[in-house]
Amino acid sequence: MSNICVLGTGYVGLVTGTCFADMGNNVTCVDIIEEKIAKLKQGILPIYEPGLEEMVERNVHAGRLHFTTSYEEGLDNAEFIFIAVPTPTGANQGAADMRYVETAARMIAQELDHYAIVINKSTVPVGSGDVVSRVIRNNLKRPEVNFAVVSNPEFLREGNALGDFQRPDRVVLGSSDPEAAQSVARLYLPLRAPILVTDIYTAEMIKYASNAFLATKISFINEIAQICERLGADVKEVAEGMGHDKRIGRAFLDAGLGYGGSCFPKDVRALAHMADEAGLHPQMLHAVMDINHDQRRLVINKLTNILGSLRGCVIGVLGLAFKPNTDDMRESASIDIIRWVTAQGATVRVYDPVATETGRAALEREGINLDMVEFCQTSYDVATGADALVISTEWNEFKSLNMLQVRAAMRRPVLIDGRNIYEATEMNRYGFIYRGIGRGTGP
Ligand code: NAD
Repeated sequence: MSNICVLGTGYVGLVTGTCFADMGNNVTCVDIIEEKIAKLKQGILPIYEPGLEEMVERNVHAGRLHFTTSYEEGLDNAEFIFIAVPTPTGANQGAADMRYVETAARMIAQELDHYAIVINKSTVPVGSGDVVSRVIRNNLKRPEVNFAVVSNPEFLREGNALGDFQRPDRVVLGSSDPEAAQSVARLYLPLRAPILVTDIYTAEMIKYASNAFLATKISFINEIAQICERLGADVKEVAEGMGHDKRIGRAFLDAGLGYGGSCFPKDVRALAHMADEAGLHPQMLHAVMDINHDQRRLVINKLTNILGSLRGCVIGVLGLAFKPNTDDMRESASIDIIRWVTAQGATVRVYDPVATETGRAALEREGINLDMVEFCQTSYDVATGADALVISTEWNEFKSLNMLQVRAAMRRPVLIDGRNIYEATEMNRYGFIYRGIGRGTGP
């Protein structure tokens, strides 16, 4: 049993803290937002993540999981201090904003009164481990106190975060202090996952290279989709045929509206920025971003090709979250789609199984006129009176809709399937004008 402090109670911090508590450790999660901590203390989670609420409750009940806004309380007796605060895109041309990490490091320095290992789980630019060390060292209230810094990038996916944390493909640890890295490795031993111990720069780079590779796979298949559509091939079957090849693999070969979320967009940008700053010319990363941006525009092109002007049209949007099983709206394709269609004078009817509140807040933050957006309770409400329906998130419940009922509720039967969850022949049979992504109809 170890004493662990986790800084940040977002998707990564709350999952990390709860899973370590579930493994029998004594964990205190710290966040600077009082409202989040107050709610957590009442068992109300700030995020939607399948299975998490029950696990939090179980570990709080067992007395192993605590929440506080106080660094003093959180760091008290902590042997391991995990930093899991945001690193969004900053103001400087795609660079990661390190303000939250640096603030966390300064606050650690103010309270630390014993040896501890500070572990960085936030995704940070290569070299940030040195920055964290320096910030703590320069701000230590008790300069005699010693500490070590270890990089431990996180690879969990929202929507499957508990499973990913508990059964990771690998655990990556980077440090210039091998003993500290070994101590952190011992925390992870019960997971029986491969543990890679390396230097701090390499560990930080593994995270960016992994995310950039997955984003590249998505942009690659989206480029292939565009070629398929023009030449008459079906990208879904192309991906299937490619995916059986073990050297390629089927994962991340789903053509659609491209990647969004809190990680891929900002991480590819940050990596490209690091390379640019180093005097390199990261052509592929720039192409990956360009393709991803254009992919979202396809929806608008398809809508206007069929409907002509969108002024006065009602566009139904199924799905707000950037992917299924999460309420996370960060860089979701739905935001761009709703922005563009409302800018052309259309009104929007929208439904998401869990992201209504986060969706409303995100659209408002983006300056989208909410008078043009109606939030519905079901997919069938969205379809009612719509001139077109756009599927923007592949939630399971959108895969088995009664499409006859959907079709009957609509004013015009236009279906733009941004996630390729339906088949053209079947939808045509129901009377839809159906457009998927990259699904040519052959010669
Ligand atoms: P998040 O925005 O969901 O949560 C971050 C939390 O940190 C917030 O609750 C915020 O209030 C809190 N916070 C900010 N400053 C703080 C401080 N000084 N002290 C304590 N708490 C503070 O972020 P997230 O999605 O959990 O991501 C955290 C990091 O993990 C990022 O660097 C991200 O790139 C990385 N990451 C995220 C995922 C993911 O799927 N979300 C996966 C892997 C890695």
